[in-house]
Amino acid sequence: DKTLHIVGGGMAGSEAAWQAAHMGLKVVLHEMRPEVGTFAHHTGNFGEMVCSNSFRSDDDEQNAVGLLHWEMRAANGLIMAMAHKHRLPAGGALAVDRDPFSESVTAALKALPNVSVEYGEITELPTEGTWIFATGPLTSPALGEAIARETGTDRLAFFDAIAPIVYAESINMDVAWMQSRYDKGETEEEQKAYLNCPMTKDQYEAFIDALLAAEKTEFHENETAGYFDGCLPIEVMAERGRETLRFGPMKPIGLTNAHQPDVKPYAVVQLRRDNKLGTLLNIVGFQTKMKYGAQTAVLKMIPGLEDARFARLGGIHRNTFLNSPTLLDDQMRLKSRPNIRFAGQVTGVEGYVESAAMGLLAGRLAAAELLGHEMGPPPGTTAMGALIHHITGGAEAKSFQPMNVNFGLFPPLDGMRGGRKGRKERYKGYTDRAKDAFTAWLGAAES
Ligand code: FAD
Repeated sequence: DKTLHIVGGGMAGSEAAWQAAHMGLKVVLHEMRPEVGTFAHHTGNFGEMVCSNSFRSDDDEQNAVGLLHWEMRAANGLIMAMAHKHRLPAGGALAVDRDPFSESVTAALKALPNVSVEYGEITELPTEGTWIFATGPLTSPALGEAIARETGTDRLAFFDAIAPIVYAESINMDVAWMQSRYDKGETEEEQKAYLNCPMTKDQYEAFIDALLAAEKTEFHENETAGYFDGCLPIEVMAERGRETLRFGPMKPIGLTNAHQPDVKPYAVVQLRRDNKLGTLLNIVGFQTKMKYGAQTAVLKMIPGLEDARFARLGGIHRNTFLNSPTLLDDQMRLKSRPNIRFAGQVTGVEGYVESAAMGLLAGRLAAAELLGHEMGPPPGTTAMGALIHHITGGAEAKSFQPMNVNFGLFPPLDGMRGGRKGRKERYKGYTDRAKDAFTAWLGAAES
């Protein structure tokens, strides 16, 4: 039976359906809207943009998300084609007229003779047939429970609690040093697993003041059900008492400043590796709902992070997502139930573009499997490849949180590490390398 079932007609599911249908499969697209809604969707259209109307930067030479646009266009992507059709003037960004955009995504899918649509909520993981689940950050509660029964409740999150992620190369190592608390660990690598940024009393007090004064974002209505104490934002901890952080994520104990061994730090901010490459570090326990502008300003007050560049800023949102590094294989199949793939935001990528890109891959990989073709994911030097490699193995499983595409996920370029070459030249190097590799992958897949 060469039928592919796709659950969820959002960014990922729409793209997956389009790709699989173009490879000749019969596709049944299951969508619960408009019968069953979410707090963020307002229409019954496929590919509805729930918030911003922007697909972010369209610069395919200097920006990783722009590169993802390029790869999706090269692979006959539906979301990019319709975005182009309904583009609004927005400088270097790809912004669209949202209603005509989602209406034309819906019309394009419905016009394909081998795509049929079944409206209604799916509440179980089927044992028969080939399926892609692309039910997004607001996966319906009943289905969320069914997924948690399969994966275990500790491997499906209902909220993200994203700590800011910093490019390792942008940290001032004349101030910061590597050391695990009490030098714990068997190997030297483990004993030096954390990067530490020390604060004096004055720096700490100024930091708390800035944290309390910073502008914060609010939760959406109905968003907070199930939100609990385990992932309190740092500003909420600071509101509970000026010393709370010093006894929490910023405690200075068990650490000796390698640059000034005699000066005991008053507080210490710790960062931990976020990917196996070691190019990205997250600030431990620093989930926050500070607005992005305020957040950057406050975080740069941390000694050693004055010139930090952020691969992603912190946030806390209602967000259903899998611990993909432990649950999915490199084809996005559930290891315990290989007839089921996941795609989109529920796999732990973040954003419209990233979600659509993972849908594109899932659609192609599932179709290839059903048609009996050999197809692997694109190489890790491409934007799509870097993302799928990150979620299915490159990310640290223990601290896994949703990820945007960024150059920190790419293997470094030979001879272009760190600051030796200009950033502009390096980014151009990444995007040139990616385009060649993606073109080769597409050619092999389509021959
Ligand atoms: P979705 O686009 O949400 O699609 C999932 C689909 O599955 C939906 O149509 C849903 O109705 C359906 N579904 C769910 N459960 C079932 C079920 N049991 N049976 C059948 N169908 C089901 N990203 C950005 O880039 N920019 C933003 O501004 C932005 N704002 C966001 C705001 C909010 C409130 C949220 C929650 C997320 C936001 N995101 C944003 C993140 C994310 O990129 C988008 O949610 C994106 O739409 C994810 O694509 P997706 O295909 O994975 O999920």
